[in-house]
Amino acid sequence: GTRSYSFMLRTKNPCGKVPNQLYLAMDSLADEFGIGTLRLTTRQTFQLHGVVKKDLKTVMSTIIKSMGSTLGACGDLNRNVLAPAAPFTRKDYVLAQETADNIAALLSPQSGFYYDTWIDGEKIMSAEPPEVTKARNDNSHGTNFPDSPEPIYGTQFLPRKFKVAVTVPTDNSVDILTNDIGVVVVSEAVGEPQGFNIYVGGGMGRTHRVETTFPRLGEPLGYVPKEDILYVVKAIVATQRDNGRRDDRRYSRMKYLISSWGIEKFRSAVEQYYGKKLEPFRELPEWEFKSYLGWHEQGNGGLFCGLHVDNGRIGGKMKTTLREIIEKYNLNVRLTPNQNIILCDVRPATKRPISTALAQAGLLHPRYVDPLNLTAMACPAFPLCPLAITEAERGIPDILKRVRAVFEKVGLKYSESVVIRVTGCPNGCARPYMAELGLVGDGPNSYQIWLGGTPNQTSLAQTFLNKVKVQDLEKVLEPLFYCWKRKRQAKESFGSFTNRIGFEKLNEIVEKWD
Ligand code: SF4
Repeated sequence: GTRSYSFMLRTKNPCGKVPNQLYLAMDSLADEFGIGTLRLTTRQTFQLHGVVKKDLKTVMSTIIKSMGSTLGACGDLNRNVLAPAAPFTRKDYVLAQETADNIAALLSPQSGFYYDTWIDGEKIMSAEPPEVTKARNDNSHGTNFPDSPEPIYGTQFLPRKFKVAVTVPTDNSVDILTNDIGVVVVSEAVGEPQGFNIYVGGGMGRTHRVETTFPRLGEPLGYVPKEDILYVVKAIVATQRDNGRRDDRRYSRMKYLISSWGIEKFRSAVEQYYGKKLEPFRELPEWEFKSYLGWHEQGNGGLFCGLHVDNGRIGGKMKTTLREIIEKYNLNVRLTPNQNIILCDVRPATKRPISTALAQAGLLHPRYVDPLNLTAMACPAFPLCPLAITEAERGIPDILKRVRAVFEKVGLKYSESVVIRVTGCPNGCARPYMAELGLVGDGPNSYQIWLGGTPNQTSLAQTFLNKVKVQDLEKVLEPLFYCWKRKRQAKESFGSFTNRIGFEKLNEIVEKWD
């Protein structure tokens, strides 16, 4: 049928910023050319499924002309740059967002081919900031940047996709440690950003039964003064460009380069390209997960409202209500790395009618969502992703209901929660290896179970069991949650609990359970 010849498009929206016009365009395109729903992704973008080939050009040019872009959303180059979606006007948040925009511009392919193909060469993009162009072309201190139309990517681009996130201290809404590069604004004087801490080498994807592939957390590389950030990002990308493995795609992400070299050797290589030494990584406070649900002040008199979207899928009544509100009040929106949406720049006088409209559609947090759903994520998997081994998005509603039932059975309160993430294959698009309970498809109707992530996404989970059939999940979850309820320390999260008790002991408990 037509469906098998259909395409999936991803937009590119640094920081998840979606101008009013683009949201309305995506909403219409989904009805006209897609499958009637909008899908938000874990990289703060839209995915449009089911576009057929003859419509591709119309859809692409509509997106580009509505101030969106799909340039570099796929392929072996930098993917969408994450930054906190909350439109706070505090200096550090603003700098994080500007930096994300600049890194996205710096690492955009320079070839005009893209616009030639989709909009017949029309030049409609706004010019990038001059400091970005300068950083791209300036080879005065570093080495090895080819004199070519692509000074950063060269002729071969990167060995594999590349992911960058920028944030501020404590705000881990971006899952900072799962990125190839994680950048954190550092403010030394009160409220005045001075520079950036940089993590490198995070990544989720792995291959089943190949023990030499693994998810990995980013680790500290160093600190750079504010004005040098684009130069050091360029140096890191070039280090991976020239040294990342190109012979086997399974080992081509930068995490494998860093893990085989060690961070010291990697740092020296980066310093060669950068032409300077990196300063020591500055101390940071604890990370926290931020959801931004509900109403908040932006800091400039405006308000924003975060709305939970189950699995990032906007359809039905939610879709029509959001469209009405966004259109009527001329709102810009932002997409979060947890597949949620934020209505931005709301004037205080319109808060009430907007709240009423949201409440009438059953969309106002917290009444309409189970706390388990609030932190849960699933990737699209069947029937949309060709790599899927088993269900994720279509399976997770039922899985969460069953976890809730287990919670009730063992006496855990409604307000308690565990971060649950499900993916249809080990590629790990919904970042299951950071979850307290990660389910990773490993066969028809079966999952690998990962335990040990924490609520603030700072600890890497590990494989606990393989090939657990979906119908047998309770046999594993009931004993685990029962023990957590009985034996946890004060305020101990499920993830910390499983790490403290140890998998061997937990395995015994599961095996003896009746
Ligand atoms: Fe597809 Fe696997 Fe990513 Fe899910 S995790 S969307 S199944 S590639």
